[in-house]
Order: sequence, then structure tokens, then C-alpha cells
Amino acid sequence: MTTAAATVGAALSVRGLVKRFGDHEVLSGIDLDVPAGAVTCLVGPSGSGKSTLLRCMAFLEEASAGTVLVGGEPLGFVDTPEGRRRLPAARIRAVRSGIGMVFQQFNLWPHMTALGNVAAALRVVRRLERAEAEARAMAQLRTVGLEGRAGHYPSQLSGGQQQRVAIARALALEPRLMLFDEPTSSLDPELTGEVLNVMRRLAADGMTMVVVSHEIGFAASVGQQVAFLDGGRILLRGTPQEVFRKPRHPRLDQFLDTYL
Ligand code: ADP
Ligand code: MG
Repeated sequence: MTTAAATVGAALSVRGLVKRFGDHEVLSGIDLDVPAGAVTCLVGPSGSGKSTLLRCMAFLEEASAGTVLVGGEPLGFVDTPEGRRRLPAARIRAVRSGIGMVFQQFNLWPHMTALGNVAAALRVVRRLERAEAEARAMAQLRTVGLEGRAGHYPSQLSGGQQQRVAIARALALEPRLMLFDEPTSSLDPELTGEVLNVMRRLAADGMTMVVVSHEIGFAASVGQQVAFLDGGRILLRGTPQEVFRKPRHPRLDQFLDTYL
């Protein structure tokens, strides 16, 4: 198994990552560096393992083998000469706290306002007082253009606005990197733009991001690195120009034909 050190400058590195669900090997030895201050886009057909890889990066899923390093720190497990050792829970929490995640489903609390949803994260995770939490939550809603919707409940917001609240909630915890799993896939086409624009701005501000998306235009224009997953392996990796340039790998061509 590969346990090579993380590349200098990588915010997150994955080495030799294998994930099995029972007998089903879903990820078959993933090596990937996520450079700091850049956007890495993961594309690939449904079932290729994109969500599982993202979930392993955030330790929402435990890898069967291999290593995830966040800022050079192992997340979850370390490989020692005596074998694989699970790190203490407090250590895992500390490393994980640097990672923000946004899902296809926004997962907002329906009984809380936009402000309440963002503030709740700060109160629970950061243990801030209400006033401080709400002040920071309001500042975060402003960055996603929703200060005027702070008092609205999720049911009173469009899908695009709900997703922007979810992004604000993740950002409020001041992550060092943000993972997005198909953040626009459950949105009507006319609402994807506002979410992608927020993500574009975040990228321009230097946030380290890993984005799973079928928005190939976004991957090509905002991504500094694109990885194409197929059957649990990274088949292609490079700049968008390198990956999307013709002649394309037949599997990528097939994928693009299906999704574009
Ligand atoms: P993608 O996000 O690229 O569509 P996923 O990572 O969701 O792919 O899934 C990859 C494969 O892993 C699929 O075959 C899926 O059925 C399987 N899988 C994902 N999560 C689980 C799970 N919790 N238990 C069993 N199989 C799973
Ligand atoms: Mg998925």
C-alpha cells in the first residue's frame, strides 16, 4: 500500500484509499492531492465512487485501507509498523473541524430561520453565545447575498437560497477546505447559477474546494484540477484543458455524451 508523504502545499491528500462495502469494492486505490487555495473537481458517472471519496475525505465514511491527510495530519487512522491504528476521537474531531461540507440535499432545520440555521451550527459546534453566533451568522448570510432573507424559514426560500444558507452554515465554522457533493443537482436549472456564482466567488477568494458536479462548464472554468473517476479509480487527472482536450479518453467521451 502507498503511504507516500503528502505533497507540500496540499490541503488534503489521499493515498492508496480503498473502500469496500462488504464484498463490493467501491474505491480501488485512490491517490489524490487537493492543492491549497485551488478548486479540484471530481467528475464521473453515477456509481463511480465520487460521493464515497468525498465522504472518506471528511471521515463521514471510514476507508477500508489507505490514508487521508488534512494539512499533513492523518484523519481517522495512521499506518504504523504494527498496522493501522485509529486515532483518538478528540484528534479526529480536531482535524475534521477544518472541513466544511455541502450536500445535494440542503439538510436545513425546517423549524429554524435562515439565521437560526447558521447560528445553530455556531452555538452547537463552537459553543458561542446567541448574540455572537447570530452576529457571525448574519455576516455569513451577507457573503452569500441572503442578509435580506435572514428571518425566512427554509419553506419560504427557493432551493437555490436554501443551498446558499447551507453554504453559509458551513462557512460560518471557518473551514480550511470545503467539500461540495453535487450542490446544484436537486435545483431547477434556473437556480443553479446563483449557487455556482457563490462558489465561484468563494474560489476567487482563495478557498480550497473539492467539488463533485455534473456542471462540466463550472469544472472547466473554475477548476484548477479535474479528476475523472470511473469504477472506483481515477482514470484521468489534470488541468481542465488536459482532461477535456480532444482526443478524449473514450470513457470520458461516453460520460460527457451521457451528461451533457
Ligand atoms: P457516485 O457518488 O459517484 O454516484 P457513490 O460513491 O455514491 O457513487 O457510490 C459508489 C458505489 O458504492 C455504488 O455502487 C453504491 O451503490 C455503493 N455504495 C455507496 N454507499 C454505500 C453504502 N453505504 N453501502 C453499500 N454500498 C454503497
Ligand atoms: Mg454521489
